[in-house]
Amino acid sequence: MKVLEGKSVYGGIAIGKISIFAKGDRQVKRTSIEDTAAEIKRFDEAKEKAKEQLKALYEKALHEVGEVNAMIFDVHQMMLDDLDYVESVTNIIETQHVNAEFAVATTGDNLSDVFASMEDAYMKERAADIKDISNRVIRILQDREADGLDSDEPVILVAEDLAPSETVQLDKSKVLSFVTRLGSTNSHTAILARTMNIPALIGVGYSEEMDGKMAVVDGFEGKILVEPDEDTLRQYEGRKEEEEKKKKLLQDLKGKETVTLDGRTIHLYANIGSVSDIASVLANDADGIGLFRSEFLYLESDTYPTEEEQFKAYRTVAETMAGKRVIIRTLDIGADKQVEYFDLGKEDNPAMGYRAIRICLDQPDIFKTQLRAIYRASHYGTISIMFPMIISVDEVKKIKEITEEVRKELEAQGIPYGEVELGIMIETPAAVMISDLLAKEVDFFSIGTNDLTQYTLAIDRQNPKLDPIYDPHHEALLRMLQMVVDHGHREGCWVGICGELGADTALTETFLRMGFDELSVSPSMVLKVRDVIRRMDLSDEEV
Ligand code: PEP
Ligand code: MG
Repeated sequence: MKVLEGKSVYGGIAIGKISIFAKGDRQVKRTSIEDTAAEIKRFDEAKEKAKEQLKALYEKALHEVGEVNAMIFDVHQMMLDDLDYVESVTNIIETQHVNAEFAVATTGDNLSDVFASMEDAYMKERAADIKDISNRVIRILQDREADGLDSDEPVILVAEDLAPSETVQLDKSKVLSFVTRLGSTNSHTAILARTMNIPALIGVGYSEEMDGKMAVVDGFEGKILVEPDEDTLRQYEGRKEEEEKKKKLLQDLKGKETVTLDGRTIHLYANIGSVSDIASVLANDADGIGLFRSEFLYLESDTYPTEEEQFKAYRTVAETMAGKRVIIRTLDIGADKQVEYFDLGKEDNPAMGYRAIRICLDQPDIFKTQLRAIYRASHYGTISIMFPMIISVDEVKKIKEITEEVRKELEAQGIPYGEVELGIMIETPAAVMISDLLAKEVDFFSIGTNDLTQYTLAIDRQNPKLDPIYDPHHEALLRMLQMVVDHGHREGCWVGICGELGADTALTETFLRMGFDELSVSPSMVLKVRDVIRRMDLSDEEV
């Protein structure tokens, strides 16, 4: 048995086989080939197999997400038969006497460069598709399965790091735990682990030969035990069972009010990243959705999601929540959430760069497409809209003008929409300091403590080296929270927290005493926080 230490970002026990996550970036070697005809045949066979895979993916997507979303797999099949593409690969094999993998990789790189340099936006986007189909053929030639998970059974996923664009593509039902060498407590992989209620470790120095081995992840102690002996395994199986029992006990709180012993109630909502997370929101009986990170719709897609695609997603969430409040946060990309087709370019300080509302105000077409989709969906439930990374009253005024335009256009077209509250995230120190002014403009505030902590303490939330001093309990932060609640209430705004701190049960009582109206936490934390609140007595409070 080998024990590797790391840092836990979410507790729990996972037992299963390790699967080392294969990055999409392929390693292709150039090898000399004598029999070029045989090599071309290898390419042809791999291409046919790739088309079969794409056909199966098309059928699956058609069934699960509809024709519009499935189309991309159809397009990929056609691209594989494109004469320029096929001729380029065969020419390279014949003239350079090289292996098919190298010829496909070279063709993929060359053609994607050509597409990327085109003016036409549609053609530009095809650059990523060329890379995608080439990677698929290379994987087949190298006898590797899909990028990422290549297992039929659920596994402990071990990786260098996981970008949000990679996690969105994972089949989540196959992940028992996340273990990474890099990453930080506040990264989106950590947030995802909390949403999925599975243990996660960072800072683990793993080695490739662990792949396929049996292991235990101890998310309480922050370690992974590779090839545990019989005794250890049995011990952990027992602990896992106990954990399951505890979770079951919390289930008794389903359907119960989130109320303190002395009768104070608070809205307890859940955070989601995609439509499929609603299942866990319902299973954990959240009173609503306090943060729908809509950028994951963009991260999941190869190109800008259309109004119709977005409308369907928002409508599904609104309808499934059956009248409970659903707060959709508008696109928050940039920083660690990179989307290739946005072509955001490299920045020295992406966390403080061209991101979130800055992109939306700079590219109003993208913004308006999303707003139209949200307003249309608001006819089917109770939707509120929230805007990220606000720093000024001016921004909010501009946003309100644009939302007004969108509503007018919908009215002119006879398209119905519902009552929609508008709110902003308070996640910059600037927004905190002018929250008295901002409160006059909006219906609610939701504090994004993840970013607010990083900007207030000047600590990059992605940098694991700084984890020990990333202190969301810092007095500066706590004072800011109180200030925002007071300013919000003075102008009739309700105020909540949707950052990870909202689920910190060591502070739940403090939040209630500060006067927060809402906490939005990972679905898996809802019942735990409800449990804490229901045991709380605030009757000693001065009124
Ligand atoms: C936050 O910053 O606290 C937040 C909720 O947003 P995100 O984690 O998506 O940046
Ligand atoms: Mg944020």
